[in-house]
Amino acid sequence: MSTTSSLGYPRIGKQRELKFALEKYWAGKIPAQELFTIAAKLRRQQWITQSENQIQILPSNDFSLYDQVLDTTWMVGAIPARFQQLKSQISDLDLYFAMARGWQNETEQFAAMEMTKWFDTNYHHIVPEISRNQKFFLNDLKPVNEFIEAKNAGFITRPVLIGPVSYLLLSKTADSAFSPLEALPNLLPVYCELLVRLVEAGAEWVQIDEPCLVLDLDEKTHTKFSKAYDQLHAVPGIHILLATYFDGLGENLSALVKLPVDGLHIDLIRAPKQLEEVLSVIPENMILSLGLVDGRNVWCTDLEQAIQLAKLAANKHGSDKLQIAPSCSLQFCPYDLDLEIEIDPEIYSWLAFARQKLVEVSVINAVINGKEESVTQILAKNKKIITNRAISNKVHDSQIQQRLKEVENSDYQRHGSFEQRKQIQSAVLNLPPLPATTIGSFPQTGEIRKQRALFTQGGLSLEAYEDFLKQEIADTIRVQEELGLDVLVHGESERTDMVEYFAEQLRGFTLIHHGWVQSYGSRAVRPPIIYGDISRPAPMTVKWARYAQSLTAKPVKGMLTGPITILQWSFVRDDQPREITCRQLALALRDEVQDLQTAGIKIIQVDEPALREGLPLHHAEQKAYLNWAVDCFRLVAGTARDETQIHTHMCYAEFEDIIDAIIRMDADVISIEASRSGMELLEIFRHFQYPNDVGPGVYDIHSPRIPSTLEIVDLIRKALQVIPAEQLWVNPDCGLKTRRWEEVLPSLQNLIAAARLYRRMLPA
Ligand code: GLN
Ligand code: ZN
Repeated sequence: MSTTSSLGYPRIGKQRELKFALEKYWAGKIPAQELFTIAAKLRRQQWITQSENQIQILPSNDFSLYDQVLDTTWMVGAIPARFQQLKSQISDLDLYFAMARGWQNETEQFAAMEMTKWFDTNYHHIVPEISRNQKFFLNDLKPVNEFIEAKNAGFITRPVLIGPVSYLLLSKTADSAFSPLEALPNLLPVYCELLVRLVEAGAEWVQIDEPCLVLDLDEKTHTKFSKAYDQLHAVPGIHILLATYFDGLGENLSALVKLPVDGLHIDLIRAPKQLEEVLSVIPENMILSLGLVDGRNVWCTDLEQAIQLAKLAANKHGSDKLQIAPSCSLQFCPYDLDLEIEIDPEIYSWLAFARQKLVEVSVINAVINGKEESVTQILAKNKKIITNRAISNKVHDSQIQQRLKEVENSDYQRHGSFEQRKQIQSAVLNLPPLPATTIGSFPQTGEIRKQRALFTQGGLSLEAYEDFLKQEIADTIRVQEELGLDVLVHGESERTDMVEYFAEQLRGFTLIHHGWVQSYGSRAVRPPIIYGDISRPAPMTVKWARYAQSLTAKPVKGMLTGPITILQWSFVRDDQPREITCRQLALALRDEVQDLQTAGIKIIQVDEPALREGLPLHHAEQKAYLNWAVDCFRLVAGTARDETQIHTHMCYAEFEDIIDAIIRMDADVISIEASRSGMELLEIFRHFQYPNDVGPGVYDIHSPRIPSTLEIVDLIRKALQVIPAEQLWVNPDCGLKTRRWEEVLPSLQNLIAAARLYRRMLPA
C-alpha cells in the first residue's frame, strides 16, 4: 500500500499569528515565552490539520521563527564572527533575530546577514556565511525538540532538514579563494550527531532536502554528495528520504540513484517527464515519493492525469514503495480556500489551497490503493472542473490574443539611443550630479492601515478616503522636499502591495483575501491569481501621479510594477506558457506608461525586483526566459518618448548571470540592492561596462538600523571606484514601506548629507 505524505506546511498562521507575535516580541510588548507558546500552538495546528486530512507521514522541523536556512546556520553553530561578541550581551533568541535583522544600540551596530530568494520562489532565506576555517558544532536541538513535541502531542513525524550539501552551496564566503563546499568534512559530523539524537528521540525517518540536486552540477559536486550521504547513511537506525523539488534531476539522476539513501522524492509538477527515467534506474528497494500535487500554485490538480502517473509508478516500482505527496513543501501556498468566500464561484471551483491539496493527495492515494469507489464522486467532480476551466469564457478573450499578435518589432524600441535620451532628459530634468531619490514607497503607517480598513469595511466614504490619501501624498512630498531629495515619489500609500494594487484593477485577475504566504521573516503576501487573458479597463496610477506632481516643481516618479514581477508574484495560469501571460501584462502596462506620459509625468519607474527569481534553474532554459522577459520590459518602456526617463528597480545583488539581459532592458536608470552585501555587486560593474545610469542601494532598508553618514559615504566611495560619477545615483536598497518614519527620516538625512559631500568634491 502506498502512503500519503507532506514535505512541509505553511507556518505563518492562518491569521498570520506568527507575524503578529514576532512583531510584538520585537517591539518588546510580549516576553519570549509568549512567542514560544504561540509558535508551539501553530506547530500543533499544522500536525492536526495534516493528519485530519489523511496525511500519514507528517513533517516536523518545517516550522521556523524566521527562516529554515537561518535555523540550520544556528543549529550547526555557523554564527558569523561579527555576532560572536553580541553573544554575551543578548539572549540566544535575540542573537538569532539579530543575525536576520541586524542589531544596534547607542554605541554598536551589527549589520544583518544577507537575504536572498529561495531558488525561483518569492520566499527569502538568510544566506549562510562560511569562512575558510569554519568550525561547526551542534549548537541547538530544534529538530529533536520539535520531534519530541510532536510525539508528545501524539504524532510520529519525519523531521525535515536542509541537506548539508545544499546548505553549503547556498552559502557565501568573504574569501574568494575558498568555496564553502570545502567545509563539508567539518559539517558532516554535526549532521551525524544530530541524526543520532533524532534516533535516540525515536525518529525512524528524516526528510533531507537537497533542492540543489535540480541544478546543473559538476562531477566534483556529485562526489561531495556521495561523500556526504555515505557518512550520513552510516548512522544506525535512521532512514533518509532525500527530497528534491522545483525541477527535474536531469543529469544528476545517475549520480543520485547511487547514493545510499532509503527514499527519493521527485517533483512531477515541474518535471513530469522525469518519472519514466527515474523508474528505470531507481534501486528496487528505494522508497519513491511522487510530488503529484503542485506546492507552488493554487489550481486543482487534474486528478486523472496525476493518477495516471502514480499508476505507472505503482506498476513498475510497486505501490508499497510509493508515497504520494505535494511537489514540495506547501509553505508556498495559501492555507485554506474555505476562507475565500469573496471569489467568483466559477473561479473558486478551479482552486485548491494547502488544505485542499492534502485532500487531493489522499484521493490519489486511495485510487492507487484500490479504493477508487470511495472517491468516485470527487473524481467525477474534478473532471468536470478541469473541463469547465479549459473552455470558460472567463479565461479566454480573443481581442487580447489578437492585439498580442499585432505587436511589431518597433514597439520594443525607444526612439533615440541612451546617449541621445540622456542629453534630452538632462535638459528637461536639470538634476544635480549624484541625484538622490528613493525607490517608491514611504512608511505604511498604522494610520494608513486604519483608514484603509475603515474604507474597505464601509466606515469611510470613497471621497473621505481619497482625501486622506491626498493628505498623505502631500505630506510625503513636503517631507522629501525638506530632506532635499532630487527626484520625488508619491509614496504609494494607496497601495496595499505593489502587485495586488495592479491586480485589483486589471482584468484576468482575482484577489486572494485571506490566504497569506510567507515572504520572509514576519512578512507575508497575498499573491493574486491570474486566471484569464489580461487587459486594463482604465488607467491605474495616473490620478495619484498627477496629483503628486501638481504639488512640487521637482520631478515625481510615476511608479509601476513591471510585467515580470506581476507575473512572478502572482499565482499564474498553468494552461498557457508564462511568456504569453507576461506579454499580455506588458501590453496593459504599456498603455499605463502612455497615459502617465500624457499626464505630464517625466520619470516613470517600472519595478522589476522579480526578474532574477524568474530565471529557470537549468542553464539550458535561461536564455529563452531572459529573452522574453527583456522583451516584455521593452514592450512597456518602448512607448516612452526620449524625454521621458525610464527607471527600473531590482532588489538583489546577484547580477552576474543576468547582467547582459539588464543591459538589454535599456532602462535609463536602474536602482539595485547593494548595501547588505557590502557593495559586492560592484565587482560586476568592474568587469562589465554598464552603459546607463545606476543607483546601487546605500541604505539597507530591510534592517531597522540607521546607517550613519560615514557609512554611506564609504559605500558611495566604493561605488565611485567602478561607476563614473556621471552615471551614479544615490538611493536606498528598496522601498521604505516596511520601515517607520523614525528610522526613515534620519537615514535619508544621512543619505543626502553623504551625497552632498561628494557633490562638493566633484569637479564642476
Ligand atoms: N516601488 C516599490 C516600493 O518602493 C518597489 C518595491 C520592491 O522592489 N520590492 O515599495
Ligand atoms: Zn526592491
